[in-house]
Amino acid sequence: MLPKNPKQIEEILKPLQLSSETYGAIKQKMDDDMTNGLSTDQHTLADAKMYITYVRAVPNGTEVGNFLALDLGGTNFRVLLIKLDGGEVTMQSTIYMIPEAIMTGTGAQLFDHIANCIDSFIEDKKLDRTVELPLGFTFSFPCKQEGLAKARLVTWTKGFNCSGVVNEDIVRLLHESVAKKQIKVRCIAVINDTVGALMSCAHEDNRCQIGLILGTGTNACYMEKIERVQQWDGDDESPQEVIINTEWGAFGNSKALNFITTEYDTNVDKISINPGKQIYEKMISGMYMGEIARQVVIKLVDAGCLFDGVASEKLRTPMAFLTKYISEIESDEEFDNFVKTRQVLDELDVERYRVADCLVMQEVCSVVSTRAAYLAAAGISVLLDRVEKPEVTIGVDGSLYRYHPKFHDLITEKLSQLSPHKKFKLMLSHDGSGKGAALVAAVAWRIY
Ligand code: ADP
Repeated sequence: MLPKNPKQIEEILKPLQLSSETYGAIKQKMDDDMTNGLSTDQHTLADAKMYITYVRAVPNGTEVGNFLALDLGGTNFRVLLIKLDGGEVTMQSTIYMIPEAIMTGTGAQLFDHIANCIDSFIEDKKLDRTVELPLGFTFSFPCKQEGLAKARLVTWTKGFNCSGVVNEDIVRLLHESVAKKQIKVRCIAVINDTVGALMSCAHEDNRCQIGLILGTGTNACYMEKIERVQQWDGDDESPQEVIINTEWGAFGNSKALNFITTEYDTNVDKISINPGKQIYEKMISGMYMGEIARQVVIKLVDAGCLFDGVASEKLRTPMAFLTKYISEIESDEEFDNFVKTRQVLDELDVERYRVADCLVMQEVCSVVSTRAAYLAAAGISVLLDRVEKPEVTIGVDGSLYRYHPKFHDLITEKLSQLSPHKKFKLMLSHDGSGKGAALVAAVAWRIY
């Protein structure tokens, strides 16, 4: 029943098992990097760019009215109608296709297409065309914001490549296209998905001051005091706070994480489309966690510690070990007779395995996901300390957090150690990209 070569297995896993002191050191390095990101003179040196979002307040539950929202940059393009009535929220949404030709056409074609979709949506939902509708836009591409409703695209990602949009204000482009269709909508705010998560959770719990994404990638935002944001160029009126989009996935790009980088991380980075970039993200998020585990598994097989030293072709294929397999393997209990682990191994064409191999697979997955969750906790702990409120709720979105059986508990456990004097709660965000955008528009409507 016992795995073969337990000493060797221990050696192979050891580089991924970090001490409490190490997590404390990572937290300190992230804090320093974020301070640089917020400054004017050290900004270019920082990995976490700490972008100003111009979102100044969270919802207080008094928001009312009808708001449109657009969600572009996730899996689907959606138009939503959100009715806010105090704490009550009702939503209707429609998914629209964006043809390949438009994704790689001109900016005008893309925004004209979006305007057409808004027009059909208004028609379908029988909305009053004489009343101007405020709109919140979740635009999940890297942007440098210059105002709540002014965001210049830094670069296209995720298969989009429309000409004439980089460096342009996407709100101006949207407004030009809707004007052509004579639709009465006004974009009040542009946000990203972290802000969406924060705002949608804050609507239910106004102690929410941090938004976190643990999905394909990872990122976080938090409410910061304006006096600490050296790059602040807005007014000094109350509330003297603004949400900062940390873009923390890039932490480690300037080697701050080299002291914990394993051979597995180096291999994952090498085969990625952006070597040397998003180093923290590659240690944590769903796009890479399965591949880290696969790297470890192959090392174990080649050392003769797993599957009698034989790996299937599939198991040797980069990116073939999905992060969801980690969730499945870790949700097996010993008395289940490893049902899910066996399913995963069958899917990977592993022919010969014993209970001892299942146990080793569980151990590998647990070590990899624990490091990811603890690293995320180190980052959250920095933000918790910065928020300086006695009780803080953290709004979280993303399939990794949602579906991994232990991520929530692991983050909670490490966060309690790293920020021992803080009261906090992790809260799952529901449809942050839609509801969040409408709420930002609503709050702006209320304040300005
Ligand atoms: P996105 O971040 O692109 O908006 P998601 O939040 O759905 O979308 O995240 C997708 C990522 O979540 C994928 O990289 C995938 O590996 C990971 N994922 C999907 N299902 C699971 C699961 N059951 N357990 C852990 N990770 C998962």
